[in-house]
Amino acid sequence: MTTRRQVKRKGRPSIVSKKAKFKGITFDSGTEARYYKVLLGDPNVKHIELQPVYRIIEPFEVECKRCRGAGKVVNEATGRLNKCSLCNGNGKRMKQGAIYTADFKVTYQDDYQEVIDVKGYADAKFPIRKKLFESTTGIELIVVEFDAKNRQWVRK
Ligand SMILES: [Zn+2]
Repeated sequence: MTTRRQVKRKGRPSIVSKKAKFKGITFDSGTEARYYKVLLGDPNVKHIELQPVYRIIEPFEVECKRCRGAGKVVNEATGRLNKCSLCNGNGKRMKQGAIYTADFKVTYQDDYQEVIDVKGYADAKFPIRKKLFESTTGIELIVVEFDAKNRQWVRK
């Protein structure tokens, strides 16, 4: 399970949604909990998976920035070549990649599946995450928002 909305990242203001509890499940936001209630009440819904995780970027390798891929650096004091400590002499460094956690994976009575993200607030990183999710899985992400003015859920 992810804690993505609780994590405070250094140097950046973070938006922390209020947690919501429903049927013993803790949701990241009240909006998410309310939409779960909507899904539970939908007779077309057969199964609901909470917070499905998708790998959207595989771990990858980059050339080491300190030794410029050589694996060795010149020691300023001695003039000798030392093993690069940043890449441990490999010349390359591994980067972590990334995962995306959606809010729901819904299976309908006809076994059609949808991956749904409920948006309760503006999230600057969401558009790129959505694109990465769609490009790696081939699944179109369903974005659901609550239109407070008309008091209804809107699928985007
Ligand atoms: Zn290096």
